[in-house]
Amino acid sequence: MEIKFERLHLQSDLRSPLKGFETISVPTEVRIDPLTKRRSRIITWGLPSKGKFDFSRMAEESKGCFFCPENVLLKTPQFLEEIVSEGRICIGKAVGFPNLNPVGTYGSVVVLCHEHFLNLNQFTPEIYEEGLSVAIEIIRRTMDFDPDTRYWHISQNFLLPGGSTILHPHLQVIGDPVPTNEMEWLLNASSSYYQRNGTLYWNDLVQIEQGLGKRYITNIGKVHWLVAFAPIGFNEVCGSVEGHGSVTTLGKEEISSLAKGIVSTLKYFEDKDLNSFNFTLYSISGEASYQLLIRIISRTPIQPFYLNDWTSFEVLQSELTSNIIPEELCREIRPYFP
Ligand SMILES: [Zn+2]
Repeated sequence: MEIKFERLHLQSDLRSPLKGFETISVPTEVRIDPLTKRRSRIITWGLPSKGKFDFSRMAEESKGCFFCPENVLLKTPQFLEEIVSEGRICIGKAVGFPNLNPVGTYGSVVVLCHEHFLNLNQFTPEIYEEGLSVAIEIIRRTMDFDPDTRYWHISQNFLLPGGSTILHPHLQVIGDPVPTNEMEWLLNASSSYYQRNGTLYWNDLVQIEQGLGKRYITNIGKVHWLVAFAPIGFNEVCGSVEGHGSVTTLGKEEISSLAKGIVSTLKYFEDKDLNSFNFTLYSISGEASYQLLIRIISRTPIQPFYLNDWTSFEVLQSELTSNIIPEELCREIRPYFP
């Protein structure tokens, strides 16, 4: 195994007005991702929480949207008959249909629940079990129709800071014959690791992280949950699904394990006064060196005088700055997992 956790310590010296202009040193840590070699910066200061935002007015004013139960079967698009003959895919309360505003070859939306708005601690494993099952059924049916579409992502953008214009909880399901940048980086790095070591990177990482115990949260069935050493998002929690590269081969047990991990992470976010998040499941078929990965990150919460968490560092330097030390996040979030 050749997994290395590389860090560089940086330090800024200055005379602080908060300490009578005494000289102080402020450390920053640069961490290098063991797989992709991408750098992240862990800063050691943070702004205090502004408390919880009251969503009642926003929810009241926007309810009765296209995704609300009285509209969803009347006002949303239907699949081509040759892909989904019944038009939409429904499992429990989740409803899947094509995205009217797609960004690729196959774009779908999965409405997760009847409720127009949910706080992060109101999402349940059942909501995600049904939603992910619909997303996976969409992918299976589409791949039966077009087997060249090997690259899929199932994502959630929650609230405006997460990039969603619609409050009503929903997933995005996007499939293409070409990978995204992130998928290509993951694939290339996993493949060259496999060629050098003859083993899967994610299996090796899980084994090492289990031994170290600093960033490994727990396993729920075949899904191993851990905190990224060099995060690319705030409060990043990762799940690696043993024995699968694509969501199309997942059974009920793995779907349920993913759902439980997502819900556990969201409950932690709620307790930290966060309210907006993104997650993505990167699903790739036909690659022996790749293992299915989910990443969940928080976004700066919606609040008056909203502060964007992507500065010139992230947008123009491709380097994340995060004020959460991954090992502390792991310690804090562990009790939220079953
Ligand atoms: Zn709605």
